Amino acid sequence: MDSPQRPPLAHVFRGTFVHSNASAPMEVLHEHLLGVDENGTIVFLEQTDQQEELARSWGFKTSDIRELSNHEFFMPGMVDTHIHAPQYSFAGTRVDLPLLQWLTTYTFPTEAKYNDSDFAEEVYTRVVRRTLKNGTTTACYFATIYTDTSLLLAEIIDKFGQRAFVGKVCMDMNDSVPQYKETTEDSVQETERKCLSRHTAFLMGLFLNLYKCFRYHAEREWYLKQ
Ligand SMILES: [Zn+2]
Repeated sequence: MDSPQRPPLAHVFRGTFVHSNASAPMEVLHEHLLGVDENGTIVFLEQTDQQEELARSWGFKTSDIRELSNHEFFMPGMVDTHIHAPQYSFAGTRVDLPLLQWLTTYTFPTEAKYNDSDFAEEVYTRVVRRTLKNGTTTACYFATIYTDTSLLLAEIIDKFGQRAFVGKVCMDMNDSVPQYKETTEDSVQETERKCLSRHTAFLMGLFLNLYKCFRYHAEREWYLKQ
């Protein structure tokens, strides 16, 4: 029987695959074969006893298969649902203050630097490269109040091939670091500009981010006060 027209295979891997599905939070598949076509789509995941039939049907040779070692396994990309990209510039440091003091002492003054596109490009490139390297294939990013560099973050994400929502921060009140805030009118106008500049997913990302961030910070403040 003739095979239907299919895009050629780009990769065939053999080894252990770990994933989750509706019926199991973690499923470990030993001795499996996974095929990926040139569009990057997984086209099969089958037990290795199907190898001969798969090879015939997809036209690959044994020498095309990349075999994982005993200590290697594949897993799906990780999803970071809450990451503040500008704060990457001081990741792992400045952990000596409670949240509100931490925001006014470190975070807002740092975020205020992101109206400088060279600075923003340098840090945003590092955060996207690092998260991808660590296996984060999808992320929900917060940027800053600056529209142009928030869009720059989206462009960097596109360039490196990560999937993401990018939210512009909207902040029309900030007594502690007054240089880092917008007027309400600017905030609305810039948010509209940002959404028109990219696609509607950014609007969704914005609201998701705002909702989650405020909820998270409010809850954390409440918790710290207990
Ligand atoms: Zn947050």
